[in-house]
Amino acid sequence: MRNIYILGAAGSIGLQTLTVLKENREHYHLVGLSLGSNHKTNFEILENFSVEIVCLRDETMILSYQKDYPDTSFVYGEQGLIEVATYHKPGILVNALSGSSGLKPTIAAIKTNKDIALANKETLVMAGDIVKKLVKEYHVNLYPIDSEHSALWQAMNGEDKSFIKKLVITASGGSFRDLNRKQLENVTVKDALKHPNWAMGDKITIDSATMMNKGLEVIEAHHLFDLEYDQIETILHQESIVHGLVYFIDGLVKASLSVSDMKIPITYALFHPNRRAYEHNLELTNLSFKPMDFNRFPLLQVAYDVGKQGGIMPTVMNAANEAAVKLFLIGKISFLDIESIVIETVKSYVQIEHPSLEEIIKTDQEVQEMIRITYGKR
Ligand code: MG
Repeated sequence: MRNIYILGAAGSIGLQTLTVLKENREHYHLVGLSLGSNHKTNFEILENFSVEIVCLRDETMILSYQKDYPDTSFVYGEQGLIEVATYHKPGILVNALSGSSGLKPTIAAIKTNKDIALANKETLVMAGDIVKKLVKEYHVNLYPIDSEHSALWQAMNGEDKSFIKKLVITASGGSFRDLNRKQLENVTVKDALKHPNWAMGDKITIDSATMMNKGLEVIEAHHLFDLEYDQIETILHQESIVHGLVYFIDGLVKASLSVSDMKIPITYALFHPNRRAYEHNLELTNLSFKPMDFNRFPLLQVAYDVGKQGGIMPTVMNAANEAAVKLFLIGKISFLDIESIVIETVKSYVQIEHPSLEEIIKTDQEVQEMIRITYGKR
């Protein structure tokens, strides 16, 4: 039996993680989690799992939850996430939070010697160097849940890193992959949220449509696998069946293929080197690949650029994107405004070479606030 914690349990990855746990109850004890603002989903989760500590969105929710579950300890907000992450029982923490809010809890959990199964890519984008240093210092493990990174990790398992020539991460192209840039001018939020292959949370679905998601994944891969940016490539592959490819120096290429089901990477992160049986029949139809088009998806180029610059720049890009996506989702800006806001913001910021965690968090808040004020009032 291993203890497990889930941050973002009511989100897309969180709910799929709970499904995995339900099917493997004998192997795991769910100790703590954080919930969202949908009471129905929250109560369903609490009915199915008895947990020791639960983080709610805000203080006003605590009374009614506490009444129904007197044996559970309820906490709330940002500080509540830290309390779950630092809870006294050892174990593994699944970080399935969306956006920059995932960073502090990851660090707090590492400092209490918990292993991390990471679905929150922003953690590594913002503070990859710091997080990796802490992972070493506290002798914990960091496992990817992102499907591409899980695929790469599985293809690399047992191989010496020095024999790897490069990695290729595949991209489906997102909701607007068949539209040209002119056609993107008038797309709606509703259209943007229709991803062709994956059912995911709102933010990541928009990030897939702008290709920012792939940009964040390139930076994530750089940190996870300790490879240079010119060793990490992206390719368009609309079927989302090949998730990642590893090229070795002798010419061999290993690819990881599966149906688009996040339960596969989640289960591997939690149970590896063991595997669990799932009924999946992968049909190999025609697989198509196209070179990445950086003119069509300019934010991917921005991600490579800020990744290479390092320092505070990935945080600036990530914060600008997060704030812009929020404004797009509430109808304040157009789809293409997301790109121009990110590009302008990155241009206007001065580099900090080796930012501290405090500087990273401060910059993230500063950039998001600035964009909310500048573009949110229209
Ligand atoms: Mg992914």
